[in-house]
Amino acid sequence: MVQAKKTAAYRVIAGPGGKRVFRFYCDISGELCCVTKSIRADAEDEALEIAWETEGRWAFDRCPQCGRYVSSAMFNINAERCLDCAPWENEYPVFCHHCGIRLKDPDAFFCPACGARLLVGGTEEEEGRTE
Ligand SMILES: [Zn+2]
Ligand SMILES: [Zn+2]
Repeated sequence: MVQAKKTAAYRVIAGPGGKRVFRFYCDISGELCCVTKSIRADAEDEALEIAWETEGRWAFDRCPQCGRYVSSAMFNINAERCLDCAPWENEYPVFCHHCGIRLKDPDAFFCPACGARLLVGGTEEEEGRTE
């Protein structure tokens, strides 16, 4: 049985005087996303809850499909899922990222409504690139 996760993966660094610092990590990449201030509480559970509510959770996106907490780099904002559940690769965008219309033709490279280049079939041109 999979329990709903309450927080992202974390490590505790215990300091003197019952103070603890929490480090929260992305559930997919393992990237360190948040290091909290030192938190004073009687029990570790209590400290964790404070750390998560006041600091940790704001550094993450939660995937509603798998329930994991991931960094913004590991979150597909178009699909509102983590990249494990909704990878960027080989996925045709359902909505134009520019004007927001629903797209129908999976072979189109440009949005039929606004002409924006879609995020498939190559790299987007970046402005101000220096080479
Ligand atoms: Zn997911
Ligand atoms: Zn468009």
